[in-house]
Amino acid sequence: MVEQSLVFIKPDGVKRRLMADIVGRFEKRGFLFKHMELRQLTPEAVDTHYRDHVNQPFYPGLKAFILSGPVLLMVLEGDRCVDTIRQMVGPTDALVAPAGTIRGDLALSKGENVIHASDSPESAQREIAHFFGH
Ligand code: UDP
Ligand code: MG
Repeated sequence: MVEQSLVFIKPDGVKRRLMADIVGRFEKRGFLFKHMELRQLTPEAVDTHYRDHVNQPFYPGLKAFILSGPVLLMVLEGDRCVDTIRQMVGPTDALVAPAGTIRGDLALSKGENVIHASDSPESAQREIAHFFGH
């Protein structure tokens, strides 16, 4: 089966009018768009999505940030797309993200870093089922 990744533009990216820039990068790279939806997440959905982080000290701030406005959810498809998209996104801390990556070009913070992307094919399957499953 062709690999898929769950990606979303975080509320800072939506508010800062970065959707077209970010979506354009994925379109031009050649990924297939399987879903795209602007959605205000619920507190429960944020807890489920970030289940591995809920006990971290930064989690209350992260949760408030993700709930601060709608996110643009996407399911993208392509060979080895999980790793390829993570390379395009760059490291978590945008302050050290290389120029040319989405975080390195568009963000300056470790928390408000404009985008989420699945970190493994297994995470991608779980995240896609969570946001788009029945
Ligand atoms: N985050 C944060 N402070 C930290 C680490 C992470 O606010 O010290 C936030 C940040 O928005 C990050 C998200 O929590 O994107 C998830 O963390 P993860 O380590 O999974 O980073 P990612 O996979 O998004 O690069
Ligand atoms: Mg992660």
